[in-house]
Amino acid sequence: PEPASCPSALSPRRTARAVDVGGVTVGGGAPIVVQSMTNTDTADIEGTVRQVAALARAGSELVRITVDRAEAAAAVPHIRDRLAARGVTVPMVGDFHYIGHTLLSEHPACAEALAKYRINPGNVGFGAKKDRHFAQIVEIAARNDKPVRIGGNWGSLDGELLTRLMDENAAAPAPKDAREVTREALIRSVLLSAARAEELGLPREKIILSAKVSAVQDLIAVYLELSRRADYALHLGLTEAGMGSKGIVASSAALGVLLQQGVGDTIRVSLTPEPGGDRTVEVKVAQEILQTMGFRTFVPLVAACPGCGRTTSTVFQELARDVQTYIVNRMPEWKARYPGAEALNVAVMGCIVNGPGESKHADIGISLPGTGEAPTAPVFVDGKKVATLRGPNLVQDFKEMVEAYVDRRFGG
Ligand code: SF4
Repeated sequence: PEPASCPSALSPRRTARAVDVGGVTVGGGAPIVVQSMTNTDTADIEGTVRQVAALARAGSELVRITVDRAEAAAAVPHIRDRLAARGVTVPMVGDFHYIGHTLLSEHPACAEALAKYRINPGNVGFGAKKDRHFAQIVEIAARNDKPVRIGGNWGSLDGELLTRLMDENAAAPAPKDAREVTREALIRSVLLSAARAEELGLPREKIILSAKVSAVQDLIAVYLELSRRADYALHLGLTEAGMGSKGIVASSAALGVLLQQGVGDTIRVSLTPEPGGDRTVEVKVAQEILQTMGFRTFVPLVAACPGCGRTTSTVFQELARDVQTYIVNRMPEWKARYPGAEALNVAVMGCIVNGPGESKHADIGISLPGTGEAPTAPVFVDGKKVATLRGPNLVQDFKEMVEAYVDRRFGG
């Protein structure tokens, strides 16, 4: 028999420990956090301040900066202070490789200014030295009451661990595929490091894990397994996702599958920018992934049909673009006046085939006349047809209706 209804395909969110990162909660059922990373030289204080501020303005709720040498570590507290002077208080995360223990020990003001430290268990040294360096960083974090992200990466796996697992696998009666063993090494690397951090006195509520891979199927497999084995908060991201549409599609596919299964507490979309390109694109893409999947609302949604042979004039494309631009430009003021206005949902449709139906599902929607239809555009508000627009002022009339709707709906 056919089921009586079509239930949601969304899995319940995995329960993870809540981690406070400079006032932003990651995990514990909190909204999934958007984060990003600068690509400036952190020793360039003004350049880094500008980029952190731009990322924060674009909606990045945490911003990671590279701390790779003494000059960068020395710059961190100045960056924090200059941002604060501009009213930007986004928590900054320090990204450390190889010499994090030295930088954090020798620059206590840097250790204090950062809201979280990110370390890669594959990059903190080897053997006894590795344990000593790792312990040093964890102790500094505990002393400063800072969380740590233990971030493994496919490209910089703990060599000793991988070699050991590969040797064990080769000697096993039924050896596994090398890729499977590499995924296991990545999972174990972060879990063993997290267990060691806890032994050293860092509570589980101060630990976030990530295990980044550049291939979508490997990333999904690794995170699903990691999420089953422990309840640490998880940072999701496809590493080296690539440029342009390739990076956006690969990140959306990988993160979409994991988020749908309830896995992930904070996300970063790592896109390779064009030279001189806009770094904030990665923030926008991360927000759009979360919003299109229904997890969060950042900007109003404008549902526009793609247009087809029924919209041979350019009126439709111009109206769709015009309405979208208008809403984006008006949103800062709407949001300032009416908290929650970003939940607005507008439809701009091209003809009667799907126009009236789709418009009825939006808060406010317009169905334009397709080729051969009467030159009129019905407008729907909260599912009901309220007006029919026509004539040269149609676009302006519709914008005024949107404006009035926002005032009424969100202005209470
Ligand atoms: Fe084409 Fe009309 Fe569908 Fe838009 S709504 S894609 S114009 S058929």
